[in-house]
Parts: sequence; structure tokens; C-alpha cells
Amino acid sequence: MSEINYLELREKIVANRASGLWTLMMGFHFKYLGAMIFLTFGAISKTATFLLLAYFIDEVLGTGGNIIGAIALIALSFVVLALVEGVFTFLSGRLAAQTAEGVTRRLRNFMFDHLQRLNFTFHDKSQTGDLIQRVTSDISAIQRFYAEQVIEFGRVILLFSVNFVVLLTINVELAVITVLIVPAIAIISLFFFRRVSKAYDAYQEADAKLSTVLQENLSGVRVVKAFARQPYESDKFEVANYDRYFKGTKLTRMHSIYWPITDVLASVQMLVGYIVGAIMAINGQITLGEYLAYVGMVVWIIQPMRGLGRIIVNASTGLVSFDRIAALVRESQEPLTEGIHRPESPLKGEVVFDNVSFEYEADVPVLHDISFKVEPGQIVALLGSTGSGKTTLVSLLPRFYEYTGGQILLDGVELKDYTREYLRRNIGIVEQEPFLFSRSIRENIAYGVDRSVTEEEVIAAAKAAAVHDVILSFPEGYNTVVGERGVTLSGGQKQRVVIARTILKNPRILLLDDATSSVDTETEAEIRAALENLMEARTTFVIAHRIQTVMIADLILVMDKGRIVQRGTHEELVEQQGIYRQIYDVQARIEDELEKEVSSV
Ligand code: ADP
Repeated sequence: MSEINYLELREKIVANRASGLWTLMMGFHFKYLGAMIFLTFGAISKTATFLLLAYFIDEVLGTGGNIIGAIALIALSFVVLALVEGVFTFLSGRLAAQTAEGVTRRLRNFMFDHLQRLNFTFHDKSQTGDLIQRVTSDISAIQRFYAEQVIEFGRVILLFSVNFVVLLTINVELAVITVLIVPAIAIISLFFFRRVSKAYDAYQEADAKLSTVLQENLSGVRVVKAFARQPYESDKFEVANYDRYFKGTKLTRMHSIYWPITDVLASVQMLVGYIVGAIMAINGQITLGEYLAYVGMVVWIIQPMRGLGRIIVNASTGLVSFDRIAALVRESQEPLTEGIHRPESPLKGEVVFDNVSFEYEADVPVLHDISFKVEPGQIVALLGSTGSGKTTLVSLLPRFYEYTGGQILLDGVELKDYTREYLRRNIGIVEQEPFLFSRSIRENIAYGVDRSVTEEEVIAAAKAAAVHDVILSFPEGYNTVVGERGVTLSGGQKQRVVIARTILKNPRILLLDDATSSVDTETEAEIRAALENLMEARTTFVIAHRIQTVMIADLILVMDKGRIVQRGTHEELVEQQGIYRQIYDVQARIEDELEKEVSSV
């Protein structure tokens, strides 16, 4: 398959339907043209059969020559013509199907690539179910558009034109009478085209909502069960399902109104044609043979017309799907390789925040006047209540979001001058909710590095993350598949696999969301040891929930409502009156009580 420039494809899809659909076919244009040409041959073969019939009746039966011989010859010709028509139709269908498969394969790859490049703001607001719907169901509708609707459209036009032209040569009046109905069908089709487009759009949306409910339910299955909310979830699903059903029936109702109307019109038209034709034959304006050929051909003029309506109506679904895809393509991508600074030596890891401010939405500032400096290899701990802006602050470093005021300097260079790709290669992240792919543990550990990794490196990383022994205790060791069909790892084990992944990646800068807050004490000790291995000689930002975590920090930033309200080392901060002191006292008291309780058991 000839490859295509995604940038160009994106532009064309966004520009308009025609240029998008055309560019998607790049490399398939000739195939598709072939499909159309075979279609033409097929149509001509069919009409030729009727002409042959007319010839047989008028010239052979009428003149009384060698009838037996003529019948044999004509019969043979019929068979040959039928075969030729069949072969052409087959070839045409095949070429069209190949084109449609190729085009949609390209479109799916393109969409996957695009989805991965969208920025965080987009992912924050979009729903997985809806995105899946667009990459699956909508692309299938586009596939049908190429494979069926466009081809059918061509077939209809061809059958109509060929037969109409032949009919004109037989008798102009009869030909004109036969197509009287065409404008009526065209108007009705256009009317339905508009309404079906709308109904289908609503239907696809309802379908996407249903997928979202299902997908959310499945990924949140633990919460659903833990809170015994199955009935509530079922109700929610039923509502979404009913909506889809309602929109679906509305769509089919439109089809079921359209069909009888055009059926009646077509039947009346054919009847009129038959009667007028018969009168003409009786009056001798056309021959008997011509009349019989007409009776055959008229079906292939009227039926395609009626079919045209259906195709237009169905094509509207393909076009609506195309628009839904285009809307997604229009979302801005996050440029990964845009940046002017090309560092030659490895990163040292000095970070300076200078009066940084940030807002997710215009005029809702989340961070204000953030200024501090971190020397290479130092540890900075961020402490503060939920919503105080800790996560937001650290997610500015890999440029997940762009700060809106002030500047951040990394090794003395403005962060915006580095490419996102470079930053993300040099920054390691361990989140509070560790995420592992349903792949082997080895693949999960090696995930962060591009080059091929040796077994020794993986094992060394796992050892440093204190998870090597755990992995060996699984029957399949490093080949154990995580998740659904494989072994389910505990929270603490997952956490350590993620730490191993980060150790192997060997970033200069680390962002940690206090990984120890949700695990038991024994695991905590192991994770803490793993983390200490990880933090060694790296500039580290740690979002802390416990005093224990922040004690080792070189700099503690206490945050409140998006501002730094206190800063210093542990020793300095416990001496001051303020939030830090309060948190310290509360946690110390809780730990004392816990200890007392444990020892009294
Ligand atoms: P913390 O990590 O300290 O709990 P966050 O940085 O997560 O705090 O949140 C700071 C503020 O920003 C909160 O008011 C939160 O509602 C808001 N916020 C966080 N993420 C987003 C987002 N993706 N879009 C809009 N607002 C957000």
C-alpha cells in the first residue's frame, strides 16, 4: 500500500468531504476506476440481452428463416451475455471491496496515530466510548460508503443511462414517458436524505453514549461492586439503551416510510409505460420485438431510480460518519518535536520556576506566582490539601499542559524551547495509580526505552525496584502476563514494576506521586527502598501526603489554593507556626495512637 503523508491527509479531511474522501483513496484511484469500468461493461451486457431478444423476435421469428438454428444461437448468446455480466459484476465488486478495505485500514491507522497525538486538554474532556465508536463503527460506515454506496450509485446511473439511450433509439416518446417519475423520486430522496442524516447522527451519538456507559462500568467494575451499585448502573445502562433503541427505530421508521412511497410511484410508472408501450405496439409505432425489449429494459430504468433513493439515503450515513471523524481530526494535536533547543550534553537537572502561573480554563487560575529553584539531584517535596495544585505543578514539567505566565527554566533554558519528546524522554513519572499493560511483565518493564533491552538490564531494574523475587514467584516469571488473563498484581507490586520501568528508563528528572500512601506498612518499606534507589542522583519532585516522605527532601513547598505558602526544609518548617506544623502535629498524633493500639493488642 503506497504510504501517505498524514499531515496532508489531515488537512484534506478537515477541508471538506470531497477532498478528504478523495485523498484517502490515494493509490487506489485506478482500482476504483477499474471497478467503475467493469460496472459499465456489466450494464451494457445486460441491455444487450434485451436488444438480442428484440432482434430475435422481429428478424428471426418474423421472417421465418432457420428457426431452430437461430434459437440455438440466440440461446447461446444469452448464456454468454449472462456470464459476461456476472464476471464483470464480480470483478467490479472485488475491486471496490479491495479499495474500501485498503482505504479504511489507512483511515484506522491514521486515526489511531491522531488520537495518540491529541493533547491532554482534549483527553480530559473526551470519553473513551465515544472515541472507540468513531474509530470502529464510523469507519465501518465509511467502508460501506466506498464498497457499496458509491459503486451502487455508479451502477444505477450507468444502468439508467445505457437503457435510456437505447430506449431513445427505439422511440423517443416512450422513453420520455418512462422517465416522467424521475424528478419525483429525486425530490423525495433528497427530502429523506436530509432527515436520515440527522436521525443517523443522533443514532450514532446514542450508540456512542451506550458504549461509554458500558466501558465505564467495565473499567470501574471494582467500585460498582464495592458500593453494590449494580442496580443503579443497570438503570443507567437501560436508559442509554432505550435512547439508542428509540433513535434506532426512528431511523428505521424513516426507511419504512420511504420505501412504500417510492414503490408505489415506481409501480405506477411501470404500469403506465407498459400500457403506453402496448398501445404503440398495437398502432405499429414500435415492433413487437421492441415492445418486449422495452418491457425488459423498463425494469432496469425504474428500479435503479428507486434504488438511487436508497443509495442516497444510505450514503448519508457514510457522510455523517465522515463528518464525525473529521470533527475529531480537527482537534489540535500536541506537537512532539517542535522546539528550537537541541541540548548537546546530557541534562543536569536544574529546575527554576520563575513567577509561573497556570489556568486550565481561561480566567480560572490554578497556580499563581510559583517561584523556586532546585539544584541538580535535589529532592523537592510538594505538600498541601487536595486541589491545592500539586499535580498541576508537576505536570507542567513534561509539558502536558503549557504554563500561561512566567517561565520555567531547565538547565537555564526555557522549557518551551525543548521539544516535548525530549522532555518526556528525560522525565520519569511514577503515578499514584500505577498502570500496567496486559502484556508480559518484561515488556512492561522495558516499555519506557526505545532501544532493545537485555534480560540482565530488566532483571537489574527489577532488583533495584525490590520486585525481582516477587516476579520469580510467579510460575511464568518475567513472561507472566499482567491483568485479565494473567496474574493480577497487588497495588504495591504494580507500583514496584512501574518503578523498575522508570529505573530502566533512567531519566534525569523524576516526578513521583507519593506511591506509598495506599499500601500496607511492609510493602511501604519495600517501595520506599525502591524509591530511594530510584531517586538517587536525580532531580526529584515528589507529591507527598505524609511527613515521613518529605523529611528527606532538600526543599519542601507547602501549597494552598495554587500558591506556595511555606517553603524550607523539615527542620526549618517544624519551627514555624503554619500549615506544615499543623500537618506534622496531626500525623504525629495519629501515628502515636496507632502505635499504642498496635502494641496493646
Ligand atoms: P492536587 O494535586 O493538589 O490535589 P490538582 O493539581 O489536581 O491538585 O488540582 C488543582 C486544581 O485544578 C483543582 O481545583 C482542580 O479541580 C483543577 N484541575 C485539575 N485538573 C484539571 C483539569 N484537567 N481541567 C480543569 N481543572 C483541573
